[in-house]
Amino acid sequence: MADFEPVLLHPSRQVGADLDAWLAAGGGQGLQAALAQPDAVIGTLQAAGLRGMGGAGFPTWRKWAGMTEVEAPDGVRHIVCNGNEDEPGTFKDRHLLLHTPHQIIEGMLIAAVALRASHVTLYANPHQAEALVALRLAVAQWRASPLLGRVADCLGRMPELNVTPSSGRYIGGEDTAVISWLEGGFPFPRRKPPFPTQQGVGGAPTLVNNVETFANVPHILSRGAEWYRSLGQGEAAGTKLYSLSGDVLNPGLYELPMGTSLQDLVFVHGGGMLQGRAFKAVFTGGPSNTLLTAADLDVALDFDSVRARKSRLGTGAMIVISEGTSVVRKVSEYIDFFAAGSCGQCPSCKCGTFQLSRLLHRFDSGHGSADDLRALRNLCGILPSSGRCGLIDGAVTVVESSLHTFPEEYGAVRQPPA
Ligand code: SF4
Repeated sequence: MADFEPVLLHPSRQVGADLDAWLAAGGGQGLQAALAQPDAVIGTLQAAGLRGMGGAGFPTWRKWAGMTEVEAPDGVRHIVCNGNEDEPGTFKDRHLLLHTPHQIIEGMLIAAVALRASHVTLYANPHQAEALVALRLAVAQWRASPLLGRVADCLGRMPELNVTPSSGRYIGGEDTAVISWLEGGFPFPRRKPPFPTQQGVGGAPTLVNNVETFANVPHILSRGAEWYRSLGQGEAAGTKLYSLSGDVLNPGLYELPMGTSLQDLVFVHGGGMLQGRAFKAVFTGGPSNTLLTAADLDVALDFDSVRARKSRLGTGAMIVISEGTSVVRKVSEYIDFFAAGSCGQCPSCKCGTFQLSRLLHRFDSGHGSADDLRALRNLCGILPSSGRCGLIDGAVTVVESSLHTFPEEYGAVRQPPA
Protein backbone atom coordinates (compact mmCIF):
# COMPACT_ATOMS: atom_id res chain seq x y z
CA MET A 1 0.00 0.00 0.00
CA ALA A 2 2.92 2.29 0.76
CA ASP A 3 3.98 2.50 -2.90
CA PHE A 4 0.46 2.77 -4.33
CA GLU A 5 0.15 5.59 -6.82
CA PRO A 6 -3.26 6.81 -7.89
CA VAL A 7 -3.95 6.50 -11.59
CA LEU A 8 -6.94 8.74 -12.31
CA LEU A 9 -6.21 11.19 -9.49
CA HIS A 10 -2.44 11.33 -10.02
CA PRO A 11 -1.42 15.00 -9.60
CA SER A 12 0.30 15.06 -13.01
CA ARG A 13 -3.04 14.26 -14.67
CA GLN A 14 -5.08 16.99 -12.96
CA VAL A 15 -4.42 19.38 -15.85
CA GLY A 16 -7.92 20.66 -16.43
CA ALA A 17 -8.73 21.37 -20.06
CA ASP A 18 -5.08 21.77 -21.11
CA LEU A 19 -4.53 19.12 -23.82
CA ASP A 20 -0.82 19.88 -24.22
CA ALA A 21 -0.31 19.27 -20.51
CA TRP A 22 -2.25 16.01 -20.76
CA LEU A 23 -0.09 14.83 -23.67
CA ALA A 24 3.07 15.92 -21.83
CA ALA A 25 1.97 13.80 -18.87
CA GLY A 26 1.83 10.69 -21.07
CA GLY A 27 -1.67 11.16 -22.45
CA GLY A 28 -2.37 10.08 -26.00
CA GLN A 29 -0.37 6.85 -25.77
CA GLY A 30 -3.44 4.71 -25.13
CA LEU A 31 -5.13 6.14 -28.20
CA GLN A 32 -1.99 5.55 -30.29
CA ALA A 33 -2.00 1.91 -29.15
CA ALA A 34 -5.67 1.56 -30.11
CA LEU A 35 -5.06 3.15 -33.51
CA ALA A 36 -2.23 0.68 -34.14
CA GLN A 37 -4.42 -2.34 -33.29
CA PRO A 38 -8.11 -1.43 -33.09
CA ASP A 39 -9.24 -5.05 -33.04
CA ALA A 40 -7.10 -5.85 -30.01
CA VAL A 41 -8.73 -3.27 -27.73
CA ILE A 42 -11.64 -5.39 -26.46
CA GLY A 43 -9.35 -8.32 -25.68
CA THR A 44 -7.07 -6.01 -23.70
CA LEU A 45 -10.02 -4.73 -21.65
CA GLN A 46 -11.09 -8.33 -21.04
CA ALA A 47 -7.62 -9.30 -19.83
CA ALA A 48 -7.51 -6.20 -17.62
CA GLY A 49 -10.81 -7.05 -15.92
CA LEU A 50 -12.19 -3.51 -16.17
CA ARG A 51 -15.77 -3.31 -14.82
CA GLY A 52 -18.42 -0.63 -15.31
CA MET A 53 -17.93 1.99 -12.59
CA GLY A 54 -21.38 3.56 -12.81
CA GLY A 55 -22.82 1.05 -10.38
CA ALA A 56 -23.53 -2.22 -12.12
CA GLY A 57 -19.96 -3.51 -12.31
CA PHE A 58 -20.72 -5.23 -15.63
CA PRO A 59 -17.55 -6.37 -17.46
CA THR A 60 -16.71 -3.49 -19.79
CA TRP A 61 -15.35 -5.71 -22.57
CA ARG A 62 -18.65 -7.60 -22.80
CA LYS A 63 -20.61 -4.41 -23.29
CA TRP A 64 -18.18 -3.26 -25.96
CA ALA A 65 -18.22 -6.66 -27.65
CA GLY A 66 -22.04 -6.52 -27.68
CA MET A 67 -21.81 -3.43 -29.90
CA THR A 68 -19.80 -5.30 -32.50
CA GLU A 69 -22.49 -7.99 -32.85
CA VAL A 70 -25.15 -5.53 -34.02
CA GLU A 71 -25.56 -4.24 -37.54
CA ALA A 72 -25.44 -0.43 -37.57
CA PRO A 73 -28.06 1.24 -39.78
CA ASP A 74 -26.28 3.69 -42.09
CA GLY A 75 -23.05 2.70 -40.38
CA VAL A 76 -23.81 5.03 -37.44
CA ARG A 77 -22.73 4.01 -33.93
CA HIS A 78 -22.68 6.19 -30.83
CA ILE A 79 -20.34 6.41 -27.87
CA VAL A 80 -21.85 8.21 -24.87
CA CYS A 81 -20.11 9.09 -21.62
CA ASN A 82 -22.67 9.20 -18.83
CA GLY A 83 -21.73 12.11 -16.58
CA ASN A 84 -25.16 12.72 -15.08
CA GLU A 85 -23.97 11.85 -11.54
CA ASP A 86 -26.73 13.05 -9.24
CA GLU A 87 -27.01 10.65 -6.33
CA PRO A 88 -26.56 11.49 -2.64
CA GLY A 89 -23.05 10.64 -1.51
CA THR A 90 -21.47 10.19 -4.96
CA PHE A 91 -19.04 12.88 -6.11
CA LYS A 92 -16.38 11.18 -8.20
CA ASP A 93 -17.38 11.86 -11.81
CA ARG A 94 -17.69 15.62 -11.35
CA HIS A 95 -14.09 15.70 -10.11
CA LEU A 96 -12.82 13.82 -13.18
CA LEU A 97 -14.87 15.93 -15.59
CA LEU A 98 -13.61 19.16 -14.09
CA HIS A 99 -9.98 18.35 -13.32
CA THR A 100 -8.98 15.76 -15.87
CA PRO A 101 -11.38 15.68 -18.82
CA HIS A 102 -8.79 14.44 -21.33
CA GLN A 103 -8.54 11.04 -19.66
CA ILE A 104 -12.24 10.62 -20.33
CA ILE A 105 -12.23 11.96 -23.88
CA GLU A 106 -9.27 9.79 -24.81
CA GLY A 107 -11.08 6.75 -23.38
CA MET A 108 -14.13 7.59 -25.49
CA LEU A 109 -12.04 8.00 -28.64
CA ILE A 110 -10.45 4.62 -27.99
CA ALA A 111 -13.98 3.19 -27.84
CA ALA A 112 -14.81 4.97 -31.11
CA VAL A 113 -11.77 3.42 -32.78
CA ALA A 114 -12.44 -0.07 -31.39
CA LEU A 115 -16.16 -0.03 -32.25
CA ARG A 116 -15.96 2.07 -35.44
CA ALA A 117 -18.26 4.68 -33.94
CA SER A 118 -18.44 8.13 -35.46
CA HIS A 119 -20.61 9.93 -32.85
CA VAL A 120 -18.97 10.65 -29.50
CA THR A 121 -21.01 12.49 -26.88
CA LEU A 122 -20.12 13.71 -23.42
CA TYR A 123 -23.41 13.82 -21.52
CA ALA A 124 -22.89 15.86 -18.35
CA ASN A 125 -25.01 17.19 -15.52
CA PRO A 126 -25.74 20.92 -16.03
CA HIS A 127 -25.61 21.42 -12.26
CA GLN A 128 -21.85 20.91 -12.61
CA ALA A 129 -21.48 24.18 -14.51
CA GLU A 130 -17.70 24.46 -14.13
CA ALA A 131 -17.21 20.90 -15.35
CA LEU A 132 -19.29 21.68 -18.43
CA VAL A 133 -17.06 24.65 -19.20
CA ALA A 134 -13.94 22.49 -18.80
CA LEU A 135 -15.41 19.82 -21.06
CA ARG A 136 -16.26 22.28 -23.80
CA LEU A 137 -12.75 23.74 -23.67
CA ALA A 138 -11.24 20.26 -23.73
CA VAL A 139 -13.36 19.18 -26.69
CA ALA A 140 -12.40 22.34 -28.62
CA GLN A 141 -8.74 21.40 -28.16
CA TRP A 142 -9.26 17.84 -29.36
CA ARG A 143 -11.05 19.14 -32.46
CA ALA A 144 -7.89 21.11 -33.34
CA SER A 145 -5.54 18.24 -32.51
CA PRO A 146 -3.82 16.11 -35.19
CA LEU A 147 -4.69 13.09 -33.02
CA LEU A 148 -8.35 13.52 -33.91
CA GLY A 149 -7.30 13.51 -37.56
CA ARG A 150 -5.73 10.10 -37.01
CA VAL A 151 -9.00 8.87 -35.50
CA ALA A 152 -10.76 10.20 -38.60
CA ASP A 153 -8.34 8.27 -40.83
CA CYS A 154 -9.20 5.09 -38.94
CA LEU A 155 -12.97 5.68 -39.09
CA GLY A 156 -13.05 6.99 -42.64
CA ARG A 157 -14.73 10.17 -41.46
CA MET A 158 -14.22 12.90 -38.90
CA PRO A 159 -15.87 11.86 -35.59
CA GLU A 160 -18.56 14.14 -34.21
CA LEU A 161 -17.29 15.01 -30.75
CA ASN A 162 -19.85 16.91 -28.66
CA VAL A 163 -20.81 17.94 -25.15
CA THR A 164 -24.52 17.67 -24.28
CA PRO A 165 -25.94 18.83 -20.95
CA SER A 166 -28.29 16.25 -19.44
CA SER A 167 -31.67 17.12 -17.97
CA GLY A 168 -30.04 17.34 -14.54
CA ARG A 169 -32.63 14.93 -13.17
CA TYR A 170 -31.56 11.89 -11.18
CA ILE A 171 -33.40 9.54 -13.51
CA GLY A 172 -31.52 11.05 -16.45
CA GLY A 173 -28.54 8.87 -15.48
CA GLU A 174 -30.37 5.62 -16.26
CA ASP A 175 -28.87 4.45 -19.56
CA THR A 176 -32.12 4.19 -21.54
CA ALA A 177 -33.14 7.61 -20.16
CA VAL A 178 -29.86 8.92 -21.59
CA ILE A 179 -30.99 7.64 -24.98
CA SER A 180 -34.44 9.25 -24.66
CA TRP A 181 -32.87 12.60 -23.81
CA LEU A 182 -30.34 12.46 -26.64
CA GLU A 183 -33.22 11.77 -29.01
CA GLY A 184 -34.84 15.01 -27.86
CA GLY A 185 -37.42 13.61 -25.46
CA PHE A 186 -38.01 13.62 -21.72
CA PRO A 187 -35.54 11.28 -19.98
CA PHE A 188 -38.03 8.44 -19.54
CA PRO A 189 -36.36 5.07 -18.94
CA ARG A 190 -37.40 2.30 -21.32
CA ARG A 191 -37.79 -1.39 -20.77
CA LYS A 192 -34.78 -3.55 -21.60
CA PRO A 193 -34.16 -5.41 -23.87
CA PRO A 194 -33.39 -4.00 -26.33
CA PHE A 195 -30.28 -2.67 -24.62
CA PRO A 196 -28.71 0.56 -25.87
CA THR A 197 -25.87 -1.42 -27.45
CA GLN A 198 -28.54 -3.12 -29.59
CA GLN A 199 -30.83 -0.18 -30.18
CA GLY A 200 -29.79 3.18 -28.85
CA VAL A 201 -29.85 6.75 -30.15
CA GLY A 202 -32.09 6.86 -33.22
CA GLY A 203 -32.05 3.06 -33.32
CA ALA A 204 -28.26 2.95 -33.74
CA PRO A 205 -26.04 0.78 -31.51
CA THR A 206 -24.98 2.99 -28.60
CA LEU A 207 -22.35 2.39 -25.95
CA VAL A 208 -23.14 4.16 -22.68
CA ASN A 209 -20.37 3.98 -20.10
CA ASN A 210 -19.68 5.88 -16.93
CA VAL A 211 -17.06 8.66 -16.64
CA GLU A 212 -14.74 6.64 -14.39
CA THR A 213 -14.93 3.65 -16.73
CA PHE A 214 -13.78 5.66 -19.74
CA ALA A 215 -11.07 7.40 -17.68
CA ASN A 216 -9.41 4.05 -16.99
CA VAL A 217 -9.26 2.95 -20.62
CA PRO A 218 -6.27 5.04 -21.87
CA HIS A 219 -4.10 3.77 -19.02
CA ILE A 220 -4.99 0.15 -19.68
CA LEU A 221 -4.15 0.55 -23.37
CA SER A 222 -0.87 2.34 -22.74
CA ARG A 223 0.41 0.32 -19.77
CA GLY A 224 -1.16 -3.07 -20.36
CA ALA A 225 -3.77 -5.37 -18.88
CA GLU A 226 -1.38 -7.05 -16.48
CA TRP A 227 -0.31 -3.74 -14.96
CA TYR A 228 -3.96 -2.75 -14.43
CA ARG A 229 -4.88 -6.09 -12.84
CA SER A 230 -1.95 -5.85 -10.47
CA LEU A 231 -3.28 -2.60 -8.99
CA GLY A 232 -6.21 -4.35 -7.30
CA GLN A 233 -6.20 -6.34 -4.09
CA GLY A 234 -6.96 -10.04 -4.02
CA GLU A 235 -8.96 -11.09 -7.07
CA ALA A 236 -10.04 -7.51 -7.82
CA ALA A 237 -8.52 -5.54 -10.68
CA GLY A 238 -7.46 -1.91 -10.95
CA THR A 239 -8.34 0.98 -8.71
CA LYS A 240 -11.61 2.47 -7.50
CA LEU A 241 -12.74 5.97 -6.68
CA TYR A 242 -14.50 5.84 -3.32
CA SER A 243 -16.68 8.82 -2.33
CA LEU A 244 -16.42 8.77 1.46
CA SER A 245 -18.84 10.94 3.42
CA GLY A 246 -20.77 11.07 6.66
CA ASP A 247 -19.47 10.86 10.23
CA VAL A 248 -15.76 10.39 9.45
CA LEU A 249 -12.90 12.72 10.26
CA ASN A 250 -11.65 13.06 6.69
CA PRO A 251 -14.47 12.72 4.18
CA GLY A 252 -13.42 13.03 0.56
CA LEU A 253 -12.67 11.34 -2.72
CA TYR A 254 -10.13 8.50 -2.48
CA GLU A 255 -8.60 6.49 -5.29
CA LEU A 256 -7.44 3.19 -3.78
CA PRO A 257 -6.80 -0.35 -4.95
CA MET A 258 -10.08 -2.04 -5.87
CA GLY A 259 -10.75 -4.39 -2.98
CA THR A 260 -9.52 -2.08 -0.20
CA SER A 261 -11.34 -3.08 2.98
CA LEU A 262 -14.14 -0.99 4.43
CA GLN A 263 -12.12 -0.90 7.66
CA ASP A 264 -9.12 0.67 5.91
CA LEU A 265 -11.23 3.13 3.96
CA VAL A 266 -12.99 4.44 7.07
CA PHE A 267 -10.33 4.11 9.75
CA VAL A 268 -7.06 4.60 7.84
CA HIS A 269 -7.82 6.82 4.86
CA GLY A 270 -10.90 8.47 6.33
CA GLY A 271 -9.13 9.06 9.66
CA GLY A 272 -11.76 7.15 11.65
CA MET A 273 -15.02 8.29 13.12
CA LEU A 274 -15.76 11.80 14.27
CA GLN A 275 -14.47 12.25 17.77
CA GLY A 276 -16.35 10.37 20.44
CA ARG A 277 -18.57 8.51 17.98
CA ALA A 278 -18.80 4.82 17.24
CA PHE A 279 -19.32 3.27 13.80
CA LYS A 280 -22.91 2.16 13.26
CA ALA A 281 -23.40 1.41 9.58
CA VAL A 282 -22.62 2.49 6.04
CA PHE A 283 -24.92 3.12 3.12
CA THR A 284 -22.80 1.46 0.51
CA GLY A 285 -22.72 2.30 -3.18
CA GLY A 286 -25.18 5.13 -2.69
CA PRO A 287 -28.51 5.19 -0.87
CA SER A 288 -30.25 2.34 -2.68
CA ASN A 289 -28.45 -0.74 -1.41
CA THR A 290 -28.33 -3.00 1.60
CA LEU A 291 -26.66 -1.40 4.63
CA LEU A 292 -23.38 -2.79 5.89
CA THR A 293 -22.71 -2.81 9.64
CA ALA A 294 -19.74 -3.16 11.99
CA ALA A 295 -19.80 -6.90 11.30
CA ASP A 296 -18.92 -6.09 7.68
CA LEU A 297 -15.92 -3.83 8.30
CA ASP A 298 -13.64 -6.55 6.98
CA VAL A 299 -15.39 -6.66 3.59
CA ALA A 300 -13.22 -5.97 0.55
CA LEU A 301 -14.78 -3.09 -1.38
CA ASP A 302 -14.97 -4.69 -4.80
CA PHE A 303 -18.03 -5.69 -6.81
CA ASP A 304 -17.98 -9.41 -6.02
CA SER A 305 -17.01 -9.23 -2.35
CA VAL A 306 -19.70 -6.67 -1.52
CA ARG A 307 -22.25 -8.69 -3.48
CA ALA A 308 -21.30 -11.73 -1.38
CA ARG A 309 -22.52 -9.71 1.65
CA LYS A 310 -25.86 -9.23 -0.16
CA SER A 311 -25.12 -5.57 -0.91
CA ARG A 312 -23.60 -3.72 -3.86
CA LEU A 313 -20.48 -1.65 -4.37
CA GLY A 314 -22.50 0.57 -6.72
CA THR A 315 -20.74 3.81 -7.53
CA GLY A 316 -18.28 3.37 -4.67
CA ALA A 317 -20.09 5.91 -2.47
CA MET A 318 -19.78 5.14 1.24
CA ILE A 319 -22.03 7.18 3.53
CA VAL A 320 -20.94 6.39 7.08
CA ILE A 321 -23.23 6.91 10.06
CA SER A 322 -22.40 6.72 13.76
CA GLU A 323 -24.21 5.35 16.78
CA GLY A 324 -26.83 7.89 17.76
CA THR A 325 -27.75 8.64 14.14
CA SER A 326 -31.28 7.63 13.23
CA VAL A 327 -31.27 5.13 10.38
CA VAL A 328 -34.97 5.80 9.89
CA ARG A 329 -34.28 9.48 9.34
CA LYS A 330 -31.51 8.82 6.82
CA VAL A 331 -33.64 6.30 4.94
CA SER A 332 -36.55 8.71 5.03
CA GLU A 333 -34.37 11.42 3.41
CA TYR A 334 -33.27 9.02 0.70
CA ILE A 335 -36.80 7.86 -0.01
CA ASP A 336 -37.86 11.51 -0.33
CA PHE A 337 -35.09 11.85 -2.90
CA PHE A 338 -36.33 8.83 -4.84
CA ALA A 339 -39.96 9.98 -4.63
CA ALA A 340 -38.95 13.35 -6.08
CA GLY A 341 -36.81 11.64 -8.72
CA SER A 342 -39.43 9.17 -9.95
CA CYS A 343 -40.28 10.02 -13.54
CA GLY A 344 -43.90 8.96 -13.01
CA GLN A 345 -44.23 6.51 -15.89
CA CYS A 346 -45.01 3.59 -13.60
CA PRO A 347 -47.88 4.18 -11.15
CA SER A 348 -46.43 1.65 -8.72
CA CYS A 349 -43.22 3.69 -8.51
CA LYS A 350 -44.84 7.11 -8.27
CA CYS A 351 -47.41 6.00 -5.68
CA GLY A 352 -45.11 3.50 -4.01
CA THR A 353 -42.27 5.93 -3.31
CA PHE A 354 -44.84 8.47 -2.07
CA GLN A 355 -46.34 5.94 0.33
CA LEU A 356 -42.93 4.75 1.53
CA SER A 357 -42.01 8.36 2.18
CA ARG A 358 -45.26 9.04 4.09
CA LEU A 359 -44.80 5.99 6.31
CA LEU A 360 -41.13 6.70 7.00
CA HIS A 361 -41.97 10.23 8.07
CA ARG A 362 -44.46 8.77 10.56
CA PHE A 363 -41.75 6.57 12.09
CA ASP A 364 -39.22 9.38 12.05
CA SER A 365 -41.58 11.67 13.94
CA GLY A 366 -42.37 8.95 16.50
CA HIS A 367 -45.91 8.30 15.24
CA GLY A 368 -45.34 4.98 13.48
CA SER A 369 -47.85 2.32 14.56
CA ALA A 370 -48.01 -1.46 14.17
CA ASP A 371 -50.39 -0.89 11.24
CA ASP A 372 -47.82 1.44 9.63
CA LEU A 373 -45.18 -1.23 10.06
CA ARG A 374 -47.43 -3.80 8.39
CA ALA A 375 -48.10 -1.36 5.54
CA LEU A 376 -44.38 -0.69 5.11
CA ARG A 377 -43.58 -4.39 4.96
CA ASN A 378 -46.48 -4.96 2.59
CA LEU A 379 -45.15 -2.30 0.19
CA CYS A 380 -41.71 -3.87 0.34
CA GLY A 381 -43.34 -7.11 -0.75
CA ILE A 382 -45.36 -5.83 -3.69
CA LEU A 383 -43.24 -3.06 -5.20
CA PRO A 384 -40.07 -4.84 -6.40
CA SER A 385 -39.83 -5.41 -10.17
CA SER A 386 -42.95 -3.33 -10.76
CA GLY A 387 -41.18 -0.47 -12.56
CA ARG A 388 -39.50 0.03 -15.90
CA CYS A 389 -36.18 0.83 -14.26
CA GLY A 390 -34.38 0.06 -11.05
CA LEU A 391 -35.41 3.15 -9.07
CA ILE A 392 -38.28 1.51 -7.22
CA ASP A 393 -36.23 -1.62 -6.51
CA GLY A 394 -33.41 0.46 -5.05
CA ALA A 395 -35.83 2.38 -2.84
CA VAL A 396 -37.35 -0.83 -1.50
CA THR A 397 -33.92 -2.39 -0.94
CA VAL A 398 -32.76 0.31 1.43
CA VAL A 399 -36.07 0.34 3.34
CA GLU A 400 -36.07 -3.46 3.67
CA SER A 401 -32.45 -3.45 4.76
CA SER A 402 -33.12 -0.89 7.48
CA LEU A 403 -36.15 -2.88 8.67
CA HIS A 404 -34.08 -6.03 8.81
CA THR A 405 -30.94 -4.56 10.37
CA PHE A 406 -32.39 -1.96 12.73
CA PRO A 407 -35.94 -3.21 13.50
CA GLU A 408 -35.93 -1.54 16.92
CA GLU A 409 -35.95 1.85 15.19
CA TYR A 410 -39.35 0.91 13.79
CA GLY A 411 -40.57 -0.36 17.16
CA ALA A 412 -40.28 -3.94 15.90
CA VAL A 413 -38.67 -6.86 17.67
CA ARG A 414 -35.35 -8.06 16.30
CA GLN A 415 -35.77 -11.58 14.91
CA PRO A 416 -33.22 -14.17 16.03
CA PRO A 417 -31.07 -15.43 13.13
CA ALA A 418 -32.68 -18.42 11.37
FE1 SF4 B 1 -39.85 6.14 -13.85
FE2 SF4 B 1 -40.01 4.90 -11.46
FE3 SF4 B 1 -40.88 3.68 -13.63
FE4 SF4 B 1 -38.25 4.07 -13.27
S1 SF4 B 1 -39.59 2.76 -12.02
S2 SF4 B 1 -39.40 4.34 -15.18
S3 SF4 B 1 -38.30 6.10 -12.26
S4 SF4 B 1 -41.71 5.59 -12.74
